[in-house]
Amino acid sequence: YHAKDQGKNQVAGCTPTMKQGIEDKTQLTSQLYRAIERQELVLYYQPQININTGQMVGVEALVRWQHPEKGLIPPGVFIPLAEQTGLINAIGRWVLETASRQNKAWQNLGLPLVTMAVNLSVEQFRNPRLVEMVYQVLQETGLSSACLELEITESIAIKETTYPIALLQQLKHLGVTISIDDFGTEYSSLSRIKELPVDRLKIAMEFVHGIDKGGKDQAIARSIIHLAKSLGLSVIAEGVETLQQLQFLKEQQCDDVQGFHFYKPMPAPQIEALLRKEMAHRKKDS
Ligand code: C2E
Ligand code: MG
Ligand code: MG
Ligand code: MG
Repeated sequence: YHAKDQGKNQVAGCTPTMKQGIEDKTQLTSQLYRAIERQELVLYYQPQININTGQMVGVEALVRWQHPEKGLIPPGVFIPLAEQTGLINAIGRWVLETASRQNKAWQNLGLPLVTMAVNLSVEQFRNPRLVEMVYQVLQETGLSSACLELEITESIAIKETTYPIALLQQLKHLGVTISIDDFGTEYSSLSRIKELPVDRLKIAMEFVHGIDKGGKDQAIARSIIHLAKSLGLSVIAEGVETLQQLQFLKEQQCDDVQGFHFYKPMPAPQIEALLRKEMAHRKKDS
């Protein structure tokens, strides 16, 4: 039973603020339809750091909407709208294409190799042409599949059918890395995780933040790291904000980290500058 099925009467029965909210949402949705062609979508990239070497090994692409009047709108606001309207397929393709082309451009400049991680929404996963789309983007941009990572959510994994497994297998055959985002926040069984052809777990931010308080969140973070290791998967912690969190994750032998303690998501030119610094360091060390 969705609010959008309730019709106009329901809108008339709303309080003024609720009505305003719905009008905003409708207006925003129609503007979102033109956002791609008007080139209002932008990608920010957040570095992923190897915990032992301190090197930047990857970046996660995070989409924003540069709205002409409202300024920079975060994905938490418009991705749900895109999912409700089916626009997520066009936006998802734009994100994948832009991120892949960007990574290839950095490589063409001779900068250190990084993996480009791209978020996939559940809706995209329902699109039967997903695998074909990913394949096409790799062809068009010339990016090696080894340099692309797709982040899926646990909810994709939970569905107790063989469909997700078959689909993930097809994606893996392309050579891309698959990771489970926000791991631990949804309810997937351990036997399910064992079956899934994934490469990497991303520890959900809420457990990482809880590390500072000790106790249960530490136990959960530790368990996820150990689970990943036992299954032969790599593991990254996101939302790392403090030295204490970093030290704990290092002791537990988490592979990679990502978070404000290192860098916030930033526009491509800033990543390029970081990669140039990184290259200079590596030259000096060798
Ligand atoms: P996510 O994939 O789990 O991304 C992590 C979010 O945490 C990002 O928010 C990032 O900016 C934020 N973050 C990173 N480090 C820290 C930290 O140390 N502290 C805190 N408090 N936050 C941190 P953002 O960019 O607002 O994205 C929110 C969500 O929107 C993403 O969660 C993802 O689910 C979705 N999203 C973003 N870009 C895309 C996209 O291109 N496609 C799809 N389908 N979803 C996207
Ligand atoms: Mg993500
Ligand atoms: Mg996440
Ligand atoms: Mg998320």
